[in-house]
Amino acid sequence: MEIALEEARAAGDRGEVPIGAVVVVDGEPVARSGNRTRELNDITAHAEIVAIRMASDRLGQERLVGADLYVTLEPCTMCAAAISFARIRRLYYGAEDPKGGGVDNGVRFYAQPTCHHAPEVYSGFNETEAADMLRAFFSDRRDVP
Ligand SMILES: [Zn+2]
Repeated sequence: MEIALEEARAAGDRGEVPIGAVVVVDGEPVARSGNRTRELNDITAHAEIVAIRMASDRLGQERLVGADLYVTLEPCTMCAAAISFARIRRLYYGAEDPKGGGVDNGVRFYAQPTCHHAPEVYSGFNETEAADMLRAFFSDRRDVP
């Protein structure tokens, strides 16, 4: 989760929404990323999606069976679905996202009958730090005309 927070910080420094994600296999981080939607002009370039793509590319496999994903904020519905499709084993996230989350809020993707693989979900890791980073980012933005 420390690496995910580092990626979140780096994303914030680049003017991206400060969210970071890491894919871990056998205790080793194989891919890490922050949000890159602005850099790539790609609305799907959320930290989780980019990290999953990098991990699949590096490992040369379509699915990430046995991999775990750490992310600083509760994944949105799109990312929750991608995590399911990638067959991620365990999802660890930091802060809950009542406004945009799709795991424990919103559509609760993994609880739907149309979801064919649900990771084990653990939450609340460094949640204060993760949430504070987002709050600071958005309050800075509001101050800018
Ligand atoms: Zn997302």
